[in-house]
Amino acid sequence: MALIGITVCRKLEDYRQSILHTGGEVRVLEPSAGLAALDGVDGLLLTGGEDVAPARYGEEPDPTVVDVDPARDEFEIGLVGAARARGIPILAICRGVQVLNVACGGTLVQDIPSQVPGAGEHSFKVPPNEPYLLAHEVWVDKDSLLLKVMSERLEGADTCEVNSRHHQAVKAVARGFRVSATAPDGVVEAIEDPAAHFCVGVQWHPENFWRTGEFRALFEAFLAAAGKPRDLRI
Ligand code: MN
Repeated sequence: MALIGITVCRKLEDYRQSILHTGGEVRVLEPSAGLAALDGVDGLLLTGGEDVAPARYGEEPDPTVVDVDPARDEFEIGLVGAARARGIPILAICRGVQVLNVACGGTLVQDIPSQVPGAGEHSFKVPPNEPYLLAHEVWVDKDSLLLKVMSERLEGADTCEVNSRHHQAVKAVARGFRVSATAPDGVVEAIEDPAAHFCVGVQWHPENFWRTGEFRALFEAFLAAAGKPRDLRI
């Protein structure tokens, strides 16, 4: 059974349940353990949370960037490097895709409403009785691994509805990565590294749907990749 390392965040339970319901085991990666936390882990799941400190990608912070955790940035950027060096599959969600992109040399839109002209709403305030509200469409690139993985849900089309609770997004895509989904307003909603065994990041929150299974295929593909022998790439 694949052991998935999950980074600590405030809403850990949905991530944990998404892995358990797909047949994986979970280890919560405590920063105090350092990069040794990854030893024996078959897959790395990067979770949601605070903005990455803009200094990490060489920018001055926009006034909207108030919630940063430099220690978390340091730990998770280190995890990305270590996981990629060891060929460990990565699934990165929300803040996770931002960490992944920055760790690999990319940059972020610091604040979508003020920096992306004509952008739609991405920071939905979710009513308590509809916590997993679908918010906007994404267009999935036809040549992407993401499309292959989600083909059942997409039923031959290349669009799907996702939830959306972010005010930042990928700007310059890290070298070697490609955009695999965008919102209709052009905001990047998913990236992947075509050279990696499985290295996919999504800006929405597929983990919120573990009860109803809308994005089960994404977790299944991640778990399947984590369960395979890895290339030991340096
Ligand atoms: Mn969005």
